[in-house]
Amino acid sequence: MSISENLHVIKDRLPAGVKLVAVSKFHPVEAIRIAYEAGQHIFGESRMQEISQKYPLLPQDIEWHFIGHLQTNKVKSIIPYTHTIHSVDSWKLLSEIEKYASRIGKRIRCLLEIYIAQEDAKYGLSFDECRQLLAGEQWREFNFAYIGGVMGMASNVEDENQIRKEFKSLKLFFDEIKNDYFSDNNDFCEISMGMSGDYKIAIEEGSTMIRVGSSIFGDREY
Ligand SMILES: *Cc1c(COP(=O)(O)O)cnc(C)c1O
Repeated sequence: MSISENLHVIKDRLPAGVKLVAVSKFHPVEAIRIAYEAGQHIFGESRMQEISQKYPLLPQDIEWHFIGHLQTNKVKSIIPYTHTIHSVDSWKLLSEIEKYASRIGKRIRCLLEIYIAQEDAKYGLSFDECRQLLAGEQWREFNFAYIGGVMGMASNVEDENQIRKEFKSLKLFFDEIKNDYFSDNNDFCEISMGMSGDYKIAIEEGSTMIRVGSSIFGDREY
C-alpha cells in the first residue's frame, strides 16, 4: 500500500481525541510531503540533524515533534524546530529547554518520558524519579518549557498482556500526577504511547497520541 493509503487506514480507526504523530525518521522529504498532502501535519523525528535538514524544505505549518533521546548539548539547536519534545527524562534537560526557549520566546510542550518497559535499553524516568522532579515544584516557575503530559514505550515483546500492563501503568501514573500536580492545569493532558506494533492496545489503554512510523512509511533504511 502507498503512504497515503497507510495513513488513511490508521486515521480512520483513530477515536476522537487521539492524535497521530507520523514518525518520519530516516525517511526522505518526499515521503513526508506525500503524507502532508494526504492531510498529515504532525511529524516526529529523533535526530537533531535530520530535523534541521528537513525543516526548511517542508511546509512551515508542520508541527514537528522530537521523540528521540535528547542530550542537553543538543537542546539549543533543536528548539527553533520543535513544537513538542516527547523525551524529557531529567530535570537538567527540562531546565535547558526552558533556558533556550526563553531566549527566543517560544513555548515548548514537554512530555515527561517514563520508563515502563521490562528492558534495560530504554530511556526515561522511573515513577519515583518523576514524582521527585515534580515535587521540586521549580518547573512551575518556567514560562516557556511547559509540561504537557507523559510519554512511554512498552517492551518490544510479543506478549500482548505484558504490553497492555505497561500501558495501563502509564495511564495510572498519568492520573496520579494529574491529580497531584496538574488538576487545575489543562496543558497537562497528553499520554503519548503506542507505535506501529502496539498502537491499538495503547489506544484501548488511554493513549491520546500515538507515534507511528513503519506502518505509514514502510521499513527504515539505517
Ligand atoms: C521510531 C520510534 C517510533 C516509531 O516506531 P515504529 O515502530 O516505526 O512505528 C515511535 N516512538 C519512538 C520514540 C521512536 O523512536
